[in-house]
Amino acid sequence: MRKSRGLCLLPGLLLMFSAASLAAAPPSTPIKIFVSVLPLKYFVERVGGEAVQVSVMVGPGRSPHTYEPTPRQMAELSRTQIYFRVGVPFEQVWMKRIADLNPHLRFVDLRKGIRLLVSPAHHHEDNENLQEPDDHQEHGESAEEEKDPHIWTDPRLVKLMAEQIRETLTALDPARADEYAANYRAFVADLDQLDRFIRDRLAGVRQRKFLVFHPAWGYFAEAYGLQQIAIETEGKEPGPKALARIIALAREEKIHTIFVQLQFSRTAADTVARAIGGRVVAVDPLAEDYLANMRLAADAFVQSLE
Ligand code: ZN
Repeated sequence: MRKSRGLCLLPGLLLMFSAASLAAAPPSTPIKIFVSVLPLKYFVERVGGEAVQVSVMVGPGRSPHTYEPTPRQMAELSRTQIYFRVGVPFEQVWMKRIADLNPHLRFVDLRKGIRLLVSPAHHHEDNENLQEPDDHQEHGESAEEEKDPHIWTDPRLVKLMAEQIRETLTALDPARADEYAANYRAFVADLDQLDRFIRDRLAGVRQRKFLVFHPAWGYFAEAYGLQQIAIETEGKEPGPKALARIIALAREEKIHTIFVQLQFSRTAADTVARAIGGRVVAVDPLAEDYLANMRLAADAFVQSLE
């Protein structure tokens, strides 16, 4: 009796050992990841599925232009394996600090391979002061600061970001390569569908210029043949002169809608709207539910441009 019982235990022990060695093989599941803004959280979750646990630095309603990480977030970063960044302004202050405190943390820049647009705020400044186009080099600004970081408003660029997410996760966790590849393909199919939807919706509109407080829609405009005109200059409310110029321009171009996002004050937008007898409409470039939100945004643009 005792002997046969001992024999029965053996396969169980073997199973336990093999399970333990399998569990030690992948990094740590789920892989702990940080991203800068909410749309990136959605992108990483689409590609990573259940293998990832994603935290976002700039939560709902907060501005990626002025954000400061909380002590809790700083502590959480010590247990994080990958940080996906995209070039939003708060990163310029915080990425180095975070890297210094967390030498184990791997940073992946999702702008890689993407042709960046020049930040429109700088154009405004140049026009206003009638300076040479490259005059702001003298202020000692880095090339990074001059680039428009809002690349995710073009779904075609999100495909490139998703590819980089897939490559990063696969390198860290090759055992799940097929899973990441399948998730990536499904996401790309959704992005292609979104791109066609926006293209179709905007195909018929004649007005191609739109007015926005914070210039977050430059890549969207570039992708769909629109022209973004920003009210904000250098991240600040415009002065009376700049405001008067924008009002004159809106009248001339027969623009009746000013787009705003909840992360910024809408005072200047309201002023322009009153002056031109127009309306203020909210579109959010930072919503987590990317696909649905971009459809809503496309509808809002069509309604204002028709
Ligand atoms: Zn922004």
